[in-house]
Amino acid sequence: MGECLFCKIAAKEIPAAVVYEDDALLAFKDIFPQAPVHLLIIPKAHCAGLCDMTPAIAEAAGRVPQVAVQLAREAGVEESGWRLLANCGPDSGQSVFHLHFHLLGGKALGGRLCQ
Ligand code: AMP
Ligand code: ZN
Repeated sequence: MGECLFCKIAAKEIPAAVVYEDDALLAFKDIFPQAPVHLLIIPKAHCAGLCDMTPAIAEAAGRVPQVAVQLAREAGVEESGWRLLANCGPDSGQSVFHLHFHLLGGKALGGRLCQ
């Protein structure tokens, strides 16, 4: 996907603060962090969002919670708490249409999941 921002990050054509990489997943720091810890975990292969997952991408995405636990531990928020979420479609506010999971922590995130 030539014009996809996160494809370019996955291809190392655009720099990012990478914190994790394996054959199918990449994690990097969000450029506009909304919490002291704000990471994005993406499949390297392009996929617009949760509704567009192929079986192979769904298999990779299935490993995201395990990777998130490892990253939360490394970021020092395993005990204090953290949140993992994915936006999907217009009402969610999704702004980058390459599947990604936000890992947020490092402060009290509040009890509301939406306004
Ligand atoms: P969403 O609103 O769920 O689509 O989230 C997209 C996220 O991507 C936002 O939190 C942005 O701050 C983040 N973002 C946009 N561009 C970059 C970039 N070049 N590097 C890292 N994060 C980015
Ligand atoms: Zn992409």
